[in-house]
Amino acid sequence: MAIVTAREVSRIFPMPAGPVIALKDVSMTIAAGEYVAITGPSGCGKSTLLHLLGGVDTPTAGAVTFEGRDLVAMSEADRGRLRLTRIGFVFQRFFLLPMLTAAENVELPQAEAGVAAAPRRERTRELLAYVGLSDRADHLPSQLSGGEMQRAAIARALANRPALVLADEPTGELDESTSDHIADLFQRVNADGTALLVVTHNPALAARATRRLA
Ligand code: ADP
Ligand code: MG
Repeated sequence: MAIVTAREVSRIFPMPAGPVIALKDVSMTIAAGEYVAITGPSGCGKSTLLHLLGGVDTPTAGAVTFEGRDLVAMSEADRGRLRLTRIGFVFQRFFLLPMLTAAENVELPQAEAGVAAAPRRERTRELLAYVGLSDRADHLPSQLSGGEMQRAAIARALANRPALVLADEPTGELDESTSDHIADLFQRVNADGTALLVVTHNPALAARATRRLA
């Protein structure tokens, strides 16, 4: 079963110096449970593609379908709801909220999805244990190492049990041994049934994928 499908999508950014073609006629699909790695030179449109698949941006032309629903035709509110509940994002620079602890960062998307306090805390405890951060739950992002911040970001991405995790160069700012731990974690996330699309130049991360696009 397809989770997300892009058909002939293009994204053109109008700029004062002339339109920038970030992506041209790209088609791809990700099936439930797949682990897909995307590599390619800087500027070739990888982040743009991730944004289109995750519904944070809309294509200039072409169609994106998520679990059978047309992402482009959907209202912004519906798209936001779908992002919150079905899609998890992980970024190179983590983007944890700096004023919230690791646990609060993991709780926030659940609160936004309407999960009650008790099950929310239980799920957060479970997720922090899953990523090996139980003893860092009450740390602010500034009190975490890079690898710990990324693990907190992964826990947050999984908070609402998404069908798909989209990761944009998630080990780009981490050293090699820390990256290997993150690669192990992503592999476990995928083995536990979540589809993954990872943009990465890290061979350890790309090697775990069942399919690679360049
Ligand atoms: P990658 O992630 O593969 O490095 P991007 O998807 O970030 O590439 O960008 C693809 C191209 O589109 C680049 O040439 C970039 O400069 C351009 N681009 C990306 N986002 C924007 C934007 N918001 N406005 C204008 N141009 C953009
Ligand atoms: Mg990029």
